Amino acid sequence: MKPFGEKPRIAVHKFSSCDGCQLAFLNLGANLITLSQRVQLTHFLEAGLDAPDTPVDIAFVEGSLSTPDEVERIRKVRENSRYLVSIGACATAGGLQALRNLDNKHDEWRDAIYAQPEFINTLKHARPIAQEVRVDYELWGCPINSRQLVACINALLFGVPPFDNSEKLCLECKRQQKVCVMVTEDKPCLGPVTRTGCGALCPSFGRDCYGCYGPSENSNTQSLSRRFAGMGLLPDAIARRFLLINSASPAFNEAGLAARATGEEKDGQ
Ligand code: SF4
Ligand code: SF4
Ligand code: SF4
Repeated sequence: MKPFGEKPRIAVHKFSSCDGCQLAFLNLGANLITLSQRVQLTHFLEAGLDAPDTPVDIAFVEGSLSTPDEVERIRKVRENSRYLVSIGACATAGGLQALRNLDNKHDEWRDAIYAQPEFINTLKHARPIAQEVRVDYELWGCPINSRQLVACINALLFGVPPFDNSEKLCLECKRQQKVCVMVTEDKPCLGPVTRTGCGALCPSFGRDCYGCYGPSENSNTQSLSRRFAGMGLLPDAIARRFLLINSASPAFNEAGLAARATGEEKDGQ
């Protein structure tokens, strides 16, 4: 990787999102000051910096593409950035906004929700950033955490590709010696197919993982779906497990739609 100049420029862009992943930057707290000694933050609205068109070395992008305006904007961001890193479930896998992709009812829902739908200009499908422009690296999670950001920035500044750890959450959970909520409490945990990175947060508090970090490598969703069915979950409930925050990721999308089709088949019998 070609080295950066003395003070690399970084931008943080927002698209359709809740701002939670930008907060991972602000949560760096005093470390943000240290970071600002090594890099120049050019655009980051939530931190009061407004220069979206300045060329940068690294652009972090939060949010999905949900409007025609956003499609235009992401193209400009791509042109102006040496590296583009999508951050969070919205940017990498559509986020909650992509739930509208599952049923072709965009116009119907828009008209029901907005008082003056004629002023709403949205895409029928909300899309991850990589469906429109080249994305160099992805950070997963809803939200991502500050550790991921620091690791990614450090790697790029040192001229190496950021480490993409896509192993399964179960491995992290077991290394931390957490009690398995699926084995002991029959909770439908998505840990066996979800990528690591959160520190096994939900199982640490006795909760089942709902997959906010997206699919892991080699995610055997078919086997987990059968396990869920064996625990008594109906197909629709299994579909909802997979089709939540990362519904536009191919592995979860396929698993969710397969469960939904099984349910429809059974209803038709
Ligand atoms: S990934 Fe989650 S926390 Fe991040 S912007 Fe989207 S909804 Fe918010
Ligand atoms: S609690 Fe969930 S993440 Fe932890 S080992 Fe059990 S299935 Fe895996
Ligand atoms: S345990 Fe699962 S749902 Fe909970 S924070 Fe981690 S990845 Fe997200």
